[in-house]
Amino acid sequence: MAYDDQNIFAKILRGEIPSFKVYKDDDTYCFMDIMPRSKGHCLVIPKTPCRNMLDASPDQLSTCLQTVQKVSHAAMKALGAEGVTIQQFNEDAGGQEVYHLHYHILPRWPGIKTTPPGKMGDMEEIKATAEAISAAL
Ligand code: AMP
Repeated sequence: MAYDDQNIFAKILRGEIPSFKVYKDDDTYCFMDIMPRSKGHCLVIPKTPCRNMLDASPDQLSTCLQTVQKVSHAAMKALGAEGVTIQQFNEDAGGQEVYHLHYHILPRWPGIKTTPPGKMGDMEEIKATAEAISAAL
């Protein structure tokens, strides 16, 4: 399947749609999920195009995972989380909705379940959480 450069994360990368930045480097960008399933839910994407893990290059995979690890540590520190759940979906049958490779980072606390997808978060809280994670990097 071909990469569609009109997907929402491509638009975020081009600055056509706003996002709450957590971290960026030469290869990757991390920003908040606006429908968070846990406090601090954020997404790591490569700056270069690929649909998902199935067509990603070794460089895209490795730089994304390095950012996932870095931001996970910062999110745990900033939010007092005791763990993280990492999710990554591939194609429609695999649960993917946005066709630009992305890794979900979900900070976790004992006994607190993730919430169902699809519910818009509180933008002020998401902004403050992005700033807290950024500051811990
Ligand atoms: P999936 O492709 O199933 O991994 O899910 C895509 C994720 O992107 C969902 O968790 C959405 O909440 C999230 N999402 C969709 N649009 C935006 C947006 N404009 N900014 C941040 N996150 C988004």
